[in-house]
Parts: sequence; structure tokens; C-alpha cells
Amino acid sequence: MYKIAIDGPAGSGKSTISKILASKLGFEYIDTGAMYRAITLKALAMKINLEDEEAYTFLKDTSLDIQNGRYIMDGVDVSEEIRSVMVTNNVSTPSKLACVRSFLVDYQRKISNMHNCIVDGRDIGTIVLPDAFLKIYLDATILCRATRRRLERLASGVDLSLEDTIKEIEVRDWKDSTRKISPLRCAEDAVVIDSTNLSIDEVVDQIIKLVNERSKKMSKHTYNEGQAVKARVINVKRESIELIIDDDTNAVIYANDLKNYQEGQKLYDIYHEGEEFEGFVKQITKDNKTGADRYILSTKLEDEKAKLSLFEDLKAQDEIIKAKVVKVTKAGADLEYEGVKLFLPAKFIDLKPEALYTLKGQMLDVIVVYVNKDHLQVTVSNIMAMKKQHRLAKEAAFKALEVGMVKDGEVVNVLPYGAIVSLGEVSGLLHQSEMDHKLVRNVNKVVKVGDKVTVKIIDIKDDKIALSMKALVKHPWEVLKEKYHVGDVFEGVVSKIIAAGALIKLTDDYAGLLPNSEYSWFSNVTLANELKENDLVTVKVKAIDDEKKRVSLSHKETLENTWADISLRRGDRISVIVSEINEKGALVNYKNVQGFLPVSEVSATKRISKVDEVFPVGTTVEVMVKECDPSVAKLRVSAKALELAKERDTFDKYFAEQEKEMPSSTIGDLIGDFKLKDSDK
Ligand code: C5P
Repeated sequence: MYKIAIDGPAGSGKSTISKILASKLGFEYIDTGAMYRAITLKALAMKINLEDEEAYTFLKDTSLDIQNGRYIMDGVDVSEEIRSVMVTNNVSTPSKLACVRSFLVDYQRKISNMHNCIVDGRDIGTIVLPDAFLKIYLDATILCRATRRRLERLASGVDLSLEDTIKEIEVRDWKDSTRKISPLRCAEDAVVIDSTNLSIDEVVDQIIKLVNERSKKMSKHTYNEGQAVKARVINVKRESIELIIDDDTNAVIYANDLKNYQEGQKLYDIYHEGEEFEGFVKQITKDNKTGADRYILSTKLEDEKAKLSLFEDLKAQDEIIKAKVVKVTKAGADLEYEGVKLFLPAKFIDLKPEALYTLKGQMLDVIVVYVNKDHLQVTVSNIMAMKKQHRLAKEAAFKALEVGMVKDGEVVNVLPYGAIVSLGEVSGLLHQSEMDHKLVRNVNKVVKVGDKVTVKIIDIKDDKIALSMKALVKHPWEVLKEKYHVGDVFEGVVSKIIAAGALIKLTDDYAGLLPNSEYSWFSNVTLANELKENDLVTVKVKAIDDEKKRVSLSHKETLENTWADISLRRGDRISVIVSEINEKGALVNYKNVQGFLPVSEVSATKRISKVDEVFPVGTTVEVMVKECDPSVAKLRVSAKALELAKERDTFDKYFAEQEKEMPSSTIGDLIGDFKLKDSDK
């Protein structure tokens, strides 16, 4: 209970300052001068001898009360009458009497024990409330005080000269400070404030500062949340009861924290000032005005504790709940869930302190992390709720994935051996070997962080996902196979000449081999002599070896081999047609191939210099094969040889017929032999 004593001489501003302080601090203002004035008013009214103590027997039948700042004596509001000049000029007399003082000091102590209060007068710090929490002795020069008092009176229509006012105040001060009982004195532990040169606000601010400083040092007792305490009722309001614990600690209990409270009940019908009260500390807050601890009590604590069982269950189940943010402080936020207050420490929410304040009124996902039934505390974490949500989302996303699925993702990390690709809630590894069909040596050359990629899930093991880009792209060999088939003939570019033949470009990734042997039908026509890099050459796909991924090509198969069915031997007799004449002889056609008839082989009898002297172009000539080699496309013929052969045939025939008629080994035989040899030349 806070009691502030303000003493000082008349006109020092006690009542003005006290009223403002009371309203600012939410305290009761008790004006003791008004009580002395009320008794004086009654004594004057009863026309007793003011000096005669025995005449004050009326005191025991006098009732005093303060209601909303009004002074009620014996049920009558005397607030105005007690300020009359008559009362002012006489008040010092009853005030010096022991019976009056004892009657009023008792009453003043009684009412000041019921409230936080500001009590002003002359003996408050010294006699009435020697244990006051703060004592102020307010003073000002006589001129200043008289001027204030005069202005005060003028406002209420009474005009007393400054001189008279000074006189009046001086007399009253003298009387108040020289009387035997409870004279006006400054208490030793009072703070003296001279208000002569201070404004009202400055005085008030000084006193509030003192109150705040002291209240911080004040609390002799501390109580824990959940602790049972005994308190005394000091004020009963409509929906709350103000209490004091151990005479120095303010507490309050709200109607809805009272166990048997029923909606609509008036608390002041049930609870009364001065009564003992038992409850539990539900919550500890700070008094807005004094900064001191303020305890919120409850008589439903057991019920409250029972309520916390729900949170123990929620904690055990690690369940996410939605709670409303009702208050935000630097330390965190108060949330409410099913009528129970939850505390979310600032460190359990992933927000900057200033952003915390934007949460007020919002629903927040939290997980219960700590339940303290004794202190009625439930601590929750938003970070944990978010983590759990993330984990659940990840698990769900993981479950939804299957090997073979094709997904769009984003590269979130590049490693020396691959890349991590996010697929949303989950991510997988795209190993370098799965980036391309070709060998990837430097991952950074293929992907970078932030790249959007389409990948195929190729494996899921435990929580690891293996991804592939190459699985979505045809193997270059397949591309080749779609483009080339055995038997296809195309014009290819020689990409390289090697010992074995020529490499012909097929696709960006593959080349086919045109072996030397497949270049020409004729051994005298060689690839090495005829082809060089970048030449165009017509080739035919001879074979595609899937296993070795090789394509073999042939050039000669694109050419007709007219010599293929030529089978002639020396001495064979054939017909040829002269097709062209040159200096050395004539080109002759035999079937589909071309042969040569040298000019020297045209006739055995005639001397000619050009073939067409005997055989013009177009002539069919009987000739004898002198030489035939289809592998080099060579055919040499001779008309002369045939002529001689025919002659010899004639001789042979003649001699054969003679032989039948003559003995053998005649001189003719010898001649015949001789001739034959000649014809062979
Ligand atoms: O403060 P105020 O001027 O109303 O007081 C009227 C008189 O009551 C004082 O002059 C003084 O004689 C008397 N008084 C007193 N003790 C108090 C308060 C007032 O004697 N605590």
C-alpha cells in the first residue's frame, strides 16, 4: 500500500498538487485540512466555546466521509462551507486541541490504510503516517503563498487584499507551528520542495519521479506465479477487487478469475473492504503508474492448472495449434488458446523485434514446448511449428515422388561431383554422370545455381533422390540410328583420313569408317590418292554395329561394277565394237566394259598407223583376248592374234588331214612347226 504524505504551510499548493498527483497515480486524495475545517464548521454551528475541550463531546457522534472528492459530514455535503473565511479564521483553534486531533488522526490513519493514497496536511509525515512511503514538505515564500491564496479566493468571488491575506496566513502559520500538539513541522525524512519558482507541473513531475524511484526499491516481498497468498480487500469495484498482500504489495483479482463468480453479480455485494482474501498468483505485471510489481490473483487456479493438462497432451503429441496473439512486448508475445494464456518468447519466433509488433491480433501456428503448472506457464514456439510444418510438407512431397517421374527443378547448389536440384519441398542430387550422355568433367560448365532444369527421378533411396538430365535426352547413338540405316546412300564429308581409310562425319558425335578396301572396285584406284579432308563422297551404310557403336561405309558399293561378271582368259575369242580411236589404238566395247585394241594388234598382214583404217568406229571386230584383269579393269585384245590363230587353225587342219594320209615326222611337219612358232611372235 503506497501512502504519500504532503505537509506544508497554508497556501504552499498542497491540495492542488495532491489532487493532480492522485489522479495521475490513480491514488485516493485525502485532504486532512478539510476534516479540521469540518469539525470547526460544526463547532461554530453549535456555538460552543472553541477553546473548551470539554465542549467537543459531539465528536463521538460525528461521521465524516469522502465520496468522489466531496466532504460529507453527518450525511451532509459540506465541501463548500468548510472553505469560508469564517472557518479559515477559526480552524487553528480546534486544530490545537488534543481531543480533536486524536479523533481525526485515528480516522485519517484508518482511511489511509485502505487505499494507495496521498494525504496532505500539517502533521502527516510526522504524526499521522510516520511510515509513509514518501514524505514531501511543500513550501513557498509568504508573498508567493498569499498571492496564490488571494487569486484562489478571487476566483470564488471573495476579494481580500494581499496585505490582509499575508496577515491571515502568517497568523495561521504561527498558530499551526507553535501549538503544543502536532505542530506543523518538516519530518526528518521528508523531501523539501520550494515551489516559489516552480510551476505546478514541475512540482508534480518531481514528486512522480520520486515515487517511481522509490517504488522500484520498495517491494519487500516477491511472490511467484502459482503461489498461494493472503491479501486484504482495499477496494471493491464493479468487475475487480483491489487487494494488498502483506501490506505493501498491490494485487487485483478480476471477476472472471473468481471461482464462484456468476455473470452479472455485483462484486461489492459479496466482497467488502478490510476483508481477508485468499487466492493464487496468476500473473505478475507492472503497475503502469508506479512501475511496481502488480499481482493478478485467481481463485480458480486449480481449474487453471487442470486446463494446462491439455497443453501437456499437446506437447506430448508435438501438435501444432493456432493461437491468437493478444499482446506483444520486447520479450515476446502473449497468445491465447482456448482461454489460456501462452507465452511465445521472442527468440522462438523467426522475426526481427520490430516485426513482432505487427503480429498483434493474428493467428499464429505454434507448438507447446514447456508447461509449468506451478507457475501457470505455457511456453510455445513458432519456430518449432514452422520446422514441423516444413518437415511434414517435405515428407508429403517425398511420398508423392516416384522413380520415373519427370520434374521441373532449380539448381540450388553446385558441387564438384554434381548439383543439388530443388524440386520444391525436397531436393535431389543430379550427379555429373547423369548430366549428359557425354562425359562431364566440369560440372560448372553444365549448370549454375539458379538454373531451371527438367530432371527425371531415377532412384529414391531412404531420403535421397537421384536425378538425371541425360535420361530425358536420346543417346547420340540412338539419334544416329534414327538417321542412318543399313543400305542408306548419302553424300558424306570426309572428316579425317586415317591409315585404315576415311572417317566420314555422320552426326556431331559420330563418324563412320570408309575402309580403303571399300573405296573402289579396282585396286589401282585408291582412297588415299583420291580423297582428302572435307571432300564430299557418296557412301552407302554397309553395317551398323550396335555393340561397338560403329558404322562402316562403302563407296564402291555406290558404283556399278561392270567388271563383276567378266571372266575372260588369254586366248579367248570375243567380238568387240570399236567405240573410239586414238593414236595408240582403239577403245572397244565388250559387254559393259571397255577394252583396248593397240594399233599394232590390228592386222598381221597390213601395216597401219590408225585402227580406223581397218576398223572404223562402230565396227564389230573379232578379236582374241591378250590380257584380262577385272580387278584393275583391264582388257587387251588383238585382231592380229586372232587372224594368225585362224591361219594356224587352217594349217593345222590341213596338216591333220595330210597326216592321216602320210607317215609322221615328214619334212612338212617341221615346216609347220616352224611357222607356228613364227605366228606366235
Ligand atoms: O490545509 P488547510 O488550510 O485546509 O488546513 C486548515 C487548518 O487545519 C490548518 O491551518 C491547520 O490549523 C489545521 N490542520 C492541522 N493539521 C492537519 C491539517 C490541517 O492542524 N493535518
